[in-house]
Amino acid sequence: MKNFPCRQHELEAKIKEWQKINPDIIRIDHVDSYSGYKVYGITISDFTIPSAQKRAHYFSQPHAHEPGTTAGMIDVIEQLVTGKDIYGRPTTLNLKEVLSRAILSFCPNGNPFGREKAPVDCWDGSYCDNERFWCWMRGDDPENPGHMWKRLNVWDIRDYNAPDPVGIVYEQIGEFRYAEPNRTQESSYFKIFNKLDAQYHFEAWFDLHQCEEFRQKNYNCEVLLCSKEFCNPAKEPENIQWAHQVLEAWAEYPGLFPDPAPVPLSYTGEQLEYFRANWSPLHQRINIINTEVKNNSPEMTPELQLKAQSIAIEVSIKRLMKK
Ligand SMILES: [Zn+2]
Repeated sequence: MKNFPCRQHELEAKIKEWQKINPDIIRIDHVDSYSGYKVYGITISDFTIPSAQKRAHYFSQPHAHEPGTTAGMIDVIEQLVTGKDIYGRPTTLNLKEVLSRAILSFCPNGNPFGREKAPVDCWDGSYCDNERFWCWMRGDDPENPGHMWKRLNVWDIRDYNAPDPVGIVYEQIGEFRYAEPNRTQESSYFKIFNKLDAQYHFEAWFDLHQCEEFRQKNYNCEVLLCSKEFCNPAKEPENIQWAHQVLEAWAEYPGLFPDPAPVPLSYTGEQLEYFRANWSPLHQRINIINTEVKNNSPEMTPELQLKAQSIAIEVSIKRLMKK
């Protein structure tokens, strides 16, 4: 077993393996993306127990250049199905209780089209510096070579002097159209969420991310809260409590140095409006927080990137069990 599963074929091999090991606790949904890749929603629960008595929680990742999120989700699903993590260590989750009381849905690879174009499996700083990394992420700007291109929600390649190749953050959603998955409902990332949410009516959504820079240099992970521009004041106290539980668990793990305070999303202008349009209605109904775990840095080994995400998910599952 490879210890940083993040590619589409690795996810599909795992799904087959999990279905063989424990077919009764796993349901696989998908949407067909324009590029031909399936974008999966994997749901784990004891389906012999009626859903009405259970808590439903969603975990996802939109960004192809943040593969530790995929590996972390695969690690947790492995624990739920086999009782061991992908390194063979026993899970700390009480599986009987979790499977009987929760519905846990995962979208481990929200943009396989972008992920498959990544030149490396894990960004650990050995392939390129951050400037080059950002050019992989959004494309190398033809009008300003060596610098990353624009950040757009949805765009048509005929309307721009676009990078070649297009940045891996973008999902191709039509012959000429591309999208950043967490900024438009047209992405496969939102389509699979909407499909599963219609079935399970999630009460919480943990969206997993990675980034390169933090408020202070010694931090390497943080939890993001909703923007103050459109958060639901009735939901925020629980989001903040949840965030602190994740931050405390990270602080106990060797090599992780979390920003001790959760950070509200700080976008302004156009980016804020993309988020308001796509996320504001969800924040009114669901508890939602995000991880940010450091990417493309030598101290962030593949195992540390993976474990930061899986710890955050495990804390969220344990928290759900205490409700
Ligand atoms: Zn991200």
